[in-house]
Amino acid sequence: MPYETVIGLETHVQLSTHSKAFCGDDASFGGAPNTQVSPVSLGFPGTLPRLNEKQVEYAVKLGLALGSKINLVNSFDRKNYFYADLPKGYQITQDRQPICVGGQLKIHVKGREKSVRIHHIHMEEDAGKSMHDTDGPYSLIDLNRAGVPLLEIVTEPDLRSAEEVDAFMTAMRQLVRYLHISDGNMEQGSLRCDVNVSIRPEGSTEFGERCEIKNLNSMRYARRAIAYEVKRQTQLVESGGQVRQETLNFNPETGITSPLRDKEDAHDYRYFPEPDLPPVVLSTEELRKLQTEMPTLPWQMRERFSGEFGLPEYDVNLLTEEQAPALFYLELSRHTPHYKAAANLLINKVLPYADEQNIPLETFPVGVKQLAEFLQIIADGKVSNSAAYQQLFPALMEQPDAPPLTLAESLNLLQTSDEGALEQIVEQVLTDNPDEVARYQKGKKNLIGFFMGQVMKASRGKADPKVTNALLRRKLEA
Ligand code: ADP
Ligand code: MG
Repeated sequence: MPYETVIGLETHVQLSTHSKAFCGDDASFGGAPNTQVSPVSLGFPGTLPRLNEKQVEYAVKLGLALGSKINLVNSFDRKNYFYADLPKGYQITQDRQPICVGGQLKIHVKGREKSVRIHHIHMEEDAGKSMHDTDGPYSLIDLNRAGVPLLEIVTEPDLRSAEEVDAFMTAMRQLVRYLHISDGNMEQGSLRCDVNVSIRPEGSTEFGERCEIKNLNSMRYARRAIAYEVKRQTQLVESGGQVRQETLNFNPETGITSPLRDKEDAHDYRYFPEPDLPPVVLSTEELRKLQTEMPTLPWQMRERFSGEFGLPEYDVNLLTEEQAPALFYLELSRHTPHYKAAANLLINKVLPYADEQNIPLETFPVGVKQLAEFLQIIADGKVSNSAAYQQLFPALMEQPDAPPLTLAESLNLLQTSDEGALEQIVEQVLTDNPDEVARYQKGKKNLIGFFMGQVMKASRGKADPKVTNALLRRKLEA
């Protein structure tokens, strides 16, 4: 029997705040183990948490982007469990009143758009990092990450394949980067997800029992874990068994999932209201202020680039994948009407240069006005496209402030479309090659290419090809 895969995601986004969620410890990634800790993040008795306002601001921005309802009053809870990387013995999270409810994220798979519903977004703190395989029989604990602010985004079970999961995570990564709330780096664990997987007979409207695969921090692992889990559940059901709700771990070395712990009963966590933090209360003014700070979002950017600028999908994808190139293009578009040529210039020259030099685009040496003038010179036919790209652009990179037209002149790149000068060159070429002229006139018409080449050579590439061609035919056929 054919089965349908059903997937819901619990995505964790590590926020790029300077300090941790409930104390002033440095929240950045990569410090020497246990150097970014204080009595608060070490969970010493008697210490008190204090809320980082940035975490709230970032949560609201994500909620606004996803069209969620923002709970102007929301509150924290304790989720109790014992583990060595959780010094307090509980995680501060939001259980009863999360900051955002509802919303959706649109994904694109195989040319089809699909809307994935968001159940809610809540704020919480990260645990420390355990390393089990670096020091013989011992486990090592690094508490730098303990208390780093997270947002958890919980979806409805709307996803139907690993490709859709991939598309969701990619869209989420792009969104948090556009919002500047996280670097979205999966390798460093800034973006990771728990994947809830179930199967059901195709056509069925009821959901099957699900398993939750914990903490997948790469799309490749997620894809393999989902494939394995779908196969395992299908075989289990086909052989008359029943899927049991459990929490699984995926082992990338063996490629299989195995039970982590039973999750029959969420009450194990003994959730209760966090007594040391007052509820978060947001005013409508604060909400409005954050609304005005919202940037153009990835999908709005895409729409402008294909609608307003008429760019093909390939260009739209390349220019809007990250925010910086999109903003650079918008700035350039204010100075030039040549939208497609501007896209080509960015894609072929500007972005690769910034990439190679590893510099932020904002520091690209040539300003947008100069770039616009560069494009205008080509559009006016003053310099050929190839001469502009191969000679003028490198020169401009070396003298970013020189007027492009003056540079073209000094490099002797201005196209000769002046028929008088060109006619002289053409005549010279014809006089120098009497045999070819005779053969052309006897019918070997493709010799036109040879003459074009000779004229180009004599004019050192400056002859306007169209005018040259017309002139040659006129003379040869006279
Ligand atoms: P819990 O409270 O036990 O964590 P939730 O109802 O909050 O369970 O769901 C957690 C995640 O599991 C959500 O992302 C949800 O979409 C997903 N989920 C729920 N039921 C299923 C199912 N039958 N198959 C796949 N995913 C599911
Ligand atoms: Mg849950």
